[in-house]
Order: sequence, then C-alpha cells, then structure tokens
Amino acid sequence: MGSVIITGASSGIGKACAEIFAKNGYNLVLNARRIDRLEEIASKLKNEKIKVFYKKTDMSNKEDIFEFVESIPKDFYPIDILINNAGLSRGLEPLDQGNIDNWNEMIDANIKGVLIITKLIIPIMKKQGYGHIINLGSIAGHESYPGGNVYCATKAAIKSLTKSLRMDLIRTNIRVSSIDPGMVETEFSEVRFRDAQRAKKVYENIKPLYAEDIADVIYFIATRPQHVNIEDVIIMPTQQASVLINDRDYNK
Ligand code: NAP
Repeated sequence: MGSVIITGASSGIGKACAEIFAKNGYNLVLNARRIDRLEEIASKLKNEKIKVFYKKTDMSNKEDIFEFVESIPKDFYPIDILINNAGLSRGLEPLDQGNIDNWNEMIDANIKGVLIITKLIIPIMKKQGYGHIINLGSIAGHESYPGGNVYCATKAAIKSLTKSLRMDLIRTNIRVSSIDPGMVETEFSEVRFRDAQRAKKVYENIKPLYAEDIADVIYFIATRPQHVNIEDVIIMPTQQASVLINDRDYNK
C-alpha cells in the first residue's frame, strides 16, 4: 500500500482523514501551517504501524507548495491518493463590504493551492500508472447564500475543476472525485468569524455532520475497485435540506 497526501491535516476533516487512512494501513503525507498540531497527530498515528511525513506548508504560497512536494521522501512513493482538503472561509459580509485580504486568502488557498499541488502530483501519478485525486468541494459550490459570495465562488470553482480534470485525465487511469458537505462541525466557523462564541451558535440546537462522517465517505470513495470513479458526493446532516433550510431555523 502506498501513501495518501492530505492537505490541511491539522484539524477537522483533514485530521479525521489522516486517522481513518492510518488505521487502514496507508502511509501519510500531511501538511498544514500549524506544525505543532501535525507533530501531535503524527506521533499518535505512528502507533498504527504506518509511516508519517509532515511539513509546515502554507497552501496559499506557491513556493511552499513546490517545496512540500519536492520534500516528500521517495520511500513514501507510490502516492495512491491526493486529498485536496486545505481550505477556509473568511467573513460573511455582502460583497461591497467584503475585505479584499479575506478574498485573497480564500482564493489562494481554496483554488490556487489546489491547482498548484494537483499540477505537481499528476506527473507522479501518471508515472505510477494510477492515482486518485479527491477534492473537498461544498454544498456552497452548488448553492450560493447571502454573504457567501467569494467562499461560494471558490467552491463552485472546485466543482468545475473536478469535472474538467476528469476529462483531462481520461486516458491516465487517474481517478478524480469530489465530496461536497453541508454543515460539518469543525474549526471552520471559528476561522470564518474569528470568534469562538459566534461559531458555536452555528451548530447549536441542530445535529450537524462531524469530520469523521466526511472522512468515512472519503475512505469509501478511495477504496472502490479501480474501474469505479465516484464523481461527486453531496452529504448533508439529516436536519439540513439546503444551505438555508434546516430543522432549527425553517419557518421561524
Ligand atoms: P477546519 O477544521 O478549519 O480545517 C481546515 C484545515 O485546512 C486546517 O487543517 C487548516 O490548517 C487547513 N488550512 C487552511 N488554510 C490553509 C493554508 N493556507 N495552508 C495550509 N493549510 C490550510 O475546517 P474543515 O471543516 O475541516 O475544512 C476542511 C475542508 O472542508 C475545507 O476545504 C472546507 O472548505 C471544506 N468544507 C467544510 C465544511 C464545513 O461545514 N466544515 C463544509 C463543506 C466543505 P492550518 O490552519 O494549520 O494551516
């Protein structure tokens, strides 16, 4: 068994993916900016008798991404899977009140980071004769919502890229999938609002999805037989029917 690269593995969905793939014998290649978190995760998961390589990487920085890919030790090859998970939202203001630095942060990490690492990993997978790229999209890429403007646009971009990449790679035996969750309780809202109290309210009086629910499905997508390509999975909490309609707020 080869390795799985997980970007943004220091928390939430990325961390849960590291745990499930490690438990099932995959070696891990992890990145994120919070290296102390990666250290902690790596030391815990090494008990699963797998190898873990991790590197502090800012997925919004081109040079960092190049260095990350170049530094992957050769004994971590083959690279079976790339999980493009690192991403974030910042703010929830109408566009005219938006903060341009926030926009750049989202666009750079959520779109350009995915493009750059994918460009660098495809030649490795082509050489191997197989591989699987799994992108974290979002329900926000299917439906926009007020104040979601730039974040929604970045996830709509992931939806388009996933489809286009399938076409680009059709003769390569490299699979491309995306998973598009609704509300998942992670650090996502804390990062969006830079306010833990406000973030907590997002998940109050409703049962959201948890990072492990998403990691379970990603693991399922990755472990289908080679001739099966799951294109996209939309996954919602039972109590959420669309971005704005959920059991707590509907008809109030
Ligand atoms: P999270 O708990 O905040 O985790 C985000 C991860 O991405 C962290 O490990 C963070 O690591 C990393 N990251 C963010 N910016 C980065 C950068 N510039 N460079 C490197 N790593 C970066 O949130 P999450 O919910 O697990 O989010 C994971 C993915 O799922 C994102 O793409 C998000 O858009 C998507 N998603 C989330 C939800 C939801 O409701 N939570 C729904 C749909 C889709 P560092 O901060 O340590 O760098």
